[in-house]
Amino acid sequence: MHGWERFLEDQSKITRFIVNSYLKNRLVHAYILEGAKGIGKLSFAKNFAKMLLCESDDRICGSCRSCQLIESEKHVNVYMIRPEGNSIKKEQIQALQAEFSKKAAENAPKVYIIEDAEKMSVSAANSLLKFLEEPMKNTYALLLTENKEMLLPTIRSRAVVLTFTPMSREKLIEQYKSVGIHQYASILASLTQSLNEGIRWSESEQFSSVVSLVLKTEECLLKMKMDPSIILIQNPEIFKNREFQLLYLNLLIIYYKDVLKIKLGKNDDLSFEAYKTSLCESSEVNTISDCLRKIQIILDTEKRLRANANVVLCFDQLFLRMKGGIEGCNMP
Ligand SMILES: [Zn+2]
Repeated sequence: MHGWERFLEDQSKITRFIVNSYLKNRLVHAYILEGAKGIGKLSFAKNFAKMLLCESDDRICGSCRSCQLIESEKHVNVYMIRPEGNSIKKEQIQALQAEFSKKAAENAPKVYIIEDAEKMSVSAANSLLKFLEEPMKNTYALLLTENKEMLLPTIRSRAVVLTFTPMSREKLIEQYKSVGIHQYASILASLTQSLNEGIRWSESEQFSSVVSLVLKTEECLLKMKMDPSIILIQNPEIFKNREFQLLYLNLLIIYYKDVLKIKLGKNDDLSFEAYKTSLCESSEVNTISDCLRKIQIILDTEKRLRANANVVLCFDQLFLRMKGGIEGCNMP
């Protein structure tokens, strides 16, 4: 079948499975699309909808009215749900149900796509469950998630899981280098599976500043000469922006994973390869448990930030805990 070519190389297993199920009339009502951020779950989901709704005999054509409306997320039979704020709410699932029951009489296939499905609130997930228990004819659910374990077991058991194969780091790094990105290639390959997202980051002026901040943070912690909180004060423009806050935390985690690798004697394939001197210094001072502790503290901070905790407070506590100031203190 046309239209699936771009998935065949990297995701051939799930692509062949879906196309065969369609051709043999064996599609089920619900699929979980599990894979890393940026790996192409949404475009795979849209392709699924196009496969069902393309108007051309030569499906998937990609250019008919249906295909175009699906691509621009305006097709009436393809319903998109995304988190509003931090979660997907019950009302959003109810709106979907209302919308689809209106069109119940129509025979055309209907698809609903839930992005970041793990962000459904418990009541939203329970509403969806009822929907999944009594599926309407010719209606398909595609639940997109980075981690299927974060979905309710009752939802998981009603869906077929399609697991995306992660792109190898070597391949990603190769692709960055082929578009002229060298210095940050190995960091970007650890940051995202999406080449486009990585390119966007590398083109952003702030990216290199955030990388420097990560190195500076560890330097402050190691030499104890300066409180890392100063970093926050000196870079207000970065810490004002949620995207950069999260980027900073993600890069810190990647950094400490590198230090951990060196501690374990795995010196090849480091993300911060270009900053090996700094990594080696860190590995001399940090123990394995220091690295693990720091990674855990950063993960806690990320969780609190996503829950809209006060930014300045979050980072102050991050630095304090990383210094070992309030060890073991679990902030609410
Ligand atoms: Zn088409």
